[in-house]
Amino acid sequence: MAKNNQINTVKDELIINGISGSPGISSGKLLVIKWHKIPVKKENLHAAEIDTEVRRFRDAITDAITEITRLKRDMIKRIGSDVADILEVQIMILSDEEMNRRIVSRIREEKVNAEFAYDNEIRTVTESLKKSTNEYFRQRLFDINGIRAKVLTNLRGLRHQTLVSIKEPSIVAAKALSAGEIAQIAGSNVVGIVTREGGVTSHTALLAKSLNIPAVLGIEDDFERLEGEPHAIIDGYQGKLIINPTEDTIERYNERYLNYAREQEQLLVARDEPAATLDGHRVNLLANIELVSEIDMALSVGAEGIGLYRSEFMYFTHGGLPSEEQQFKVYRKIVEKISPRPVTIRTFDLGGDKFIEDSLRTFEVNPFLGWRAIRISLTLRDYFKSQLRAILRASAYGDVSIMLPMICNIDEVCESKEIFEQVKKELKDEGIAFNPETRFGIMIEIPSAAINAISIAKYVDFFSIGTNDLTQYTLAVDRGNEIVSKLFESFDPAVIKLTAMAIKGARDAGIPVSVCGEMAGDPLATVLLVGLGASALSAPYSTLPQIKNIIRNIFYRDAQDIAKKALDAESTGQLKNLLANYLTEHFEGSSCPI
Ligand code: PEP
Ligand code: MG
Repeated sequence: MAKNNQINTVKDELIINGISGSPGISSGKLLVIKWHKIPVKKENLHAAEIDTEVRRFRDAITDAITEITRLKRDMIKRIGSDVADILEVQIMILSDEEMNRRIVSRIREEKVNAEFAYDNEIRTVTESLKKSTNEYFRQRLFDINGIRAKVLTNLRGLRHQTLVSIKEPSIVAAKALSAGEIAQIAGSNVVGIVTREGGVTSHTALLAKSLNIPAVLGIEDDFERLEGEPHAIIDGYQGKLIINPTEDTIERYNERYLNYAREQEQLLVARDEPAATLDGHRVNLLANIELVSEIDMALSVGAEGIGLYRSEFMYFTHGGLPSEEQQFKVYRKIVEKISPRPVTIRTFDLGGDKFIEDSLRTFEVNPFLGWRAIRISLTLRDYFKSQLRAILRASAYGDVSIMLPMICNIDEVCESKEIFEQVKKELKDEGIAFNPETRFGIMIEIPSAAINAISIAKYVDFFSIGTNDLTQYTLAVDRGNEIVSKLFESFDPAVIKLTAMAIKGARDAGIPVSVCGEMAGDPLATVLLVGLGASALSAPYSTLPQIKNIIRNIFYRDAQDIAKKALDAESTGQLKNLLANYLTEHFEGSSCPI
């Protein structure tokens, strides 16, 4: 079939199902991103042409660096520096003189055109990166592909289109998007993201939520038949992409969107009211953030603080481990912005699904069960100490808690605490200001920690339950793998029982316990988590008004009753029905939150 016949072959309404990566509804042209598919032809050069060709290549690289730097400057103005800093990684790759020299040698030695030499070098690099099981390198692969398109279009004297330059409201569809590409979306005309790769808790989902852009991931469709910019609706709540929606569908979605917008407006009336049940039980509602730029939005919807700052996202922005000073600047900014409200800074949760540079690690067959998070911190003690120092120094400016990720036993807690005390002593000896009462807590996200919660609770100031990893490790389902994403189910009775054990362990020891996995932002889970006794819920800021509305309209004793029944559920279906039925009955008349 000729290529043209394949374009936009979908004429009727087509609903494509994926998984919900970020909530929200929007509509626009569907723009299939295929910048990565630029064909390159080999041309043999005469000796006299070579110098000009090398100059042409060097100019293309310089122009690409200038463009990205300009883009970065523009983004800093629009949305703040930490998102824009993500682009720094692309500038670093373009400025890699060793690689550029190899390309120049190819042009000179093989007497070939710059496009061919460049493309061949990029292919060699990407082939070796593809073989890596390392997420950090997989992320670089996306960056390199993006840069390839930019350099090749420059070499052809064409203008490379960026996501920023899109003129009309558009939903972008791509196999995958790099963090750099997603960063460009903030404040642009992109109103939705659709990708083939990525799971519920992948970097794509987390960043899309941070930027409040609907995203549907794990779409198995061949995007090529969707070329031709058809009109589309993205439904980030239900994980649907609707191509060529009929008038009926458009009307239905318009109505849903308007209802949603009206509802959000109504919900914000209670923005400054406490999240307390009708019988006076208080729950703290906090925001999860990855980027400093999210704090203003979190405050605008009434967040009472930051319950989880995923510090490892600084990796995107610094292209590697940041120094103590670089970290201190970021932590201090967060603390000052959120002050007098509290912030919980989680130490680096690297490895597994979370990018780490290869110079720091050896090959692992199973990185999710390998050297990650606190295990890395306890091995690379200097890095760990510099992070603890930076966080403690920031504690002089507000209410700070330190949280350790992926704790699996008491020994890890004790060893970390010893280092924490050592760092405090060092700071004191050096006369550097910090708050000696800074709270020291852990994530409960490995089943062993939930099972041993009663004993672990004696050693820490608080727990925060990470239902994303708790689900992954309880059900043995890779959280970022779209092939098994249907098996990723936080409402599985086993995950709920472990959550209940962790909450009970904390309550018996008299320490606060929050839930900070994605479940905390799911309205279906609110009654259950409150009823189990969570003292705080920390979730993406956009979900907070709705969660507060549920809390303010239920009785704690009813929630406790529902939680007790939920623990008897034998299947996910039973459990979800119990919760959904309660919400439907309870919110009858007013709009149901699910
Ligand atoms: C979790 O695992 O639930 C969690 C909150 O941490 P992250 O998603 O960053 O792994
Ligand atoms: Mg986790």
